Amino acid sequence: MRKKVTLIPGDGIGPEITVAVRDIFAALQAPIDWEEENAGVTAWQKQGELIPESLIKSLEKNRIGLKGPITTPVGEGFRSVNIQLRQHFDLYANIRPSKSIDAIPTRFKNVDLVIIRENTEGLYSGLESFDERLGIVDTISRITIKGCERIVRAAFEYAKMNGRKRVTLVHKANILKQAGATLLNAGKAIAPQYPGIAMDDVIIDNMCMQLVTKPEKYDVIVTTNLFGDILSDLAAGLVGGLGVAAGANIGENAAIFEAVHGSAPDIAGKGIANPTAILKSGVLMLHYMGEGELARKLEDTIDFTLRNKEHCTADLGGKASTRAFTAHIIRNLETEVIHAGQPGF
Ligand code: NAD
Repeated sequence: MRKKVTLIPGDGIGPEITVAVRDIFAALQAPIDWEEENAGVTAWQKQGELIPESLIKSLEKNRIGLKGPITTPVGEGFRSVNIQLRQHFDLYANIRPSKSIDAIPTRFKNVDLVIIRENTEGLYSGLESFDERLGIVDTISRITIKGCERIVRAAFEYAKMNGRKRVTLVHKANILKQAGATLLNAGKAIAPQYPGIAMDDVIIDNMCMQLVTKPEKYDVIVTTNLFGDILSDLAAGLVGGLGVAAGANIGENAAIFEAVHGSAPDIAGKGIANPTAILKSGVLMLHYMGEGELARKLEDTIDFTLRNKEHCTADLGGKASTRAFTAHIIRNLETEVIHAGQPGF
């Protein structure tokens, strides 16, 4: 059965990489009809709104979206559109896998970890105030028992569905005692319900050191919003960089899939952006939609295409444009390269 999916090209390199998605999904014969909607700076320029009502309606109806990156001004201007969408649809679980790709040489081999980041609370709650007279800025990091319990449960559910063996809670409970204890207590309550999956915990600063020395030791990592944001860029760097790192924002009633990277204004419009990360987010989306076979075919074809350096984009040391890379993937899809099975979403 065909399914409608909201496609948000976004800002910067977003439109270039979403054209690649459209062309490749058509070649894959994925049973998807795209409903294109704007958001962010592009929507502001075209429709005078950052998050148009038509986008909200489309996501409410389709309940699945694939989103390009959206520019957020630094230190001024409007609140992040990404955060607003995550909060509006209560997309509390941000899932970011980092898996070594044979074709991409990096410092480490055999990295296969997944960061499950709480997506709606913590320092990103939007509770900020500035008292100009006193020169004081307050940023409230609000964490709830419910929020901790559901993100820890999401991590254990992910581990169970994907045959993973260990969930590591990452926190700063030595200093932020209440917030850390709330996450740890959720772990203690939920872990016994998942026999066969071990749980441990690591302090965030130590976790950064562990990940840049022994990343292959880690399996599923669950943490609060800010720590998860930082760790997932770090983990992207372990397996080839932002150009290949996929992500999913999942809630009870909707899901939005998006690359970890931003709108890359430094290369926007040059036709050299790497569409791998948004395509791999599309792979996660296909698994979520129950299209495991298509997901595996697409992922294997991307990885196969990446083996030829000449066919890769500049961020991976190649010379190919976004369009040329897309054409190579389509050709490899059509010539049906051998597809090795991989675990599901
Ligand atoms: P960025 O991820 O846009 O870029 C960091 C570096 O990685 C740049 O050198 C860029 O050229 C490169 N890069 C990123 N994606 C690439 C790709 N697909 N192919 C090739 N190279 C790629 O991070 P930034 O510069 O810190 O942020 C730019 C804007 O994006 C900011 O406004 C930020 O708020 C926004 N942002 C949005 C999202 C999102 O929409 N989910 C995520 C992160 C940042």
